Amino acid sequence: MDLGLRGKVAVVAAASQGMGLATARALAQEGCKVAICARNQAPLEKAAAAIRKDTGAEVLAVRADMSRAPDVDAFVKAALASFGGVDLLVPNAGGPAAGRADALTDEQWSQAFDLTFQSANRLIRASLPSMRSRGGGSIVAITSISVKQPVDNLVLSNAIRAAVVGLVKTLARELGSDQIRVNAVAPGWIATDRLLDLMRDRAKREGRRFEDVVAEGTREIPLGRYGEPREVADLIAFLLSERASYLTGNVIQIDGGLYRGIH
Ligand code: NAD
Repeated sequence: MDLGLRGKVAVVAAASQGMGLATARALAQEGCKVAICARNQAPLEKAAAAIRKDTGAEVLAVRADMSRAPDVDAFVKAALASFGGVDLLVPNAGGPAAGRADALTDEQWSQAFDLTFQSANRLIRASLPSMRSRGGGSIVAITSISVKQPVDNLVLSNAIRAAVVGLVKTLARELGSDQIRVNAVAPGWIATDRLLDLMRDRAKREGRRFEDVVAEGTREIPLGRYGEPREVADLIAFLLSERASYLTGNVIQIDGGLYRGIH
């Protein structure tokens, strides 16, 4: 299937590893020019070099913290300056801190709001003028299974990612007439450093062996394994592409069957 992505400019946030990196790589393989960011220069440059080497694509790497408004603006401006516009956008950031609702401070809530909600909101706002002037665009935000069912000890994700879905659904309505599609993916447990960190945290909290927590996690998943970042990246590439041209305002689960709800 030709995804029709050749020559498009893609901006993928938080992409030095995990699902962001896999998405940037998948889009580069499809012939996109790709702008990526992360907070730390060395792993970011390494990721950009690896994508260039593997795909031959043009890759712009910008050091930027997605929880900071000036960094979000600078990231999008750098992509515009290097590539002349933005067609595709993948809002993403590191996950918010773990913790129970009764143990979190106002400051932690504010930080998580900036990291998880405002990063997406600001990235989209900064990219819209260019998408409009190019006659359309496509946005796919990375959220979590927490938008379908709460994850224990992760209230910042459970609460704030729901707001991201509210933004996605609203923007799908507001931007449809500009031919800008807005969707989200809701990954279950994907084998990345973020997942291992959460499992380490859980093992410590519950006084259990890390290996046991990892094995128990896979038993809950009907397909019997954690997902691979590449599997999420392929879904995002499809949703961004011409092949998904009538899809907007959707939140697509990708979780090996983990979500138990009927709707
Ligand atoms: P990861 O930890 O493997 O990678 C996160 C990436 O984001 C890294 O490149 C890191 O450098 C970058 N980053 C972190 N904070 C940043 C910031 N403030 N500004 C810019 N870059 C930043 O994570 P992942 O597993 O790929 O997860 C990506 C997102 O998806 C996270 O929000 C995570 O919570 C969420 N998620 C993960 C899973 C999972 O099972 N891995 C499931 C559902 C949702």
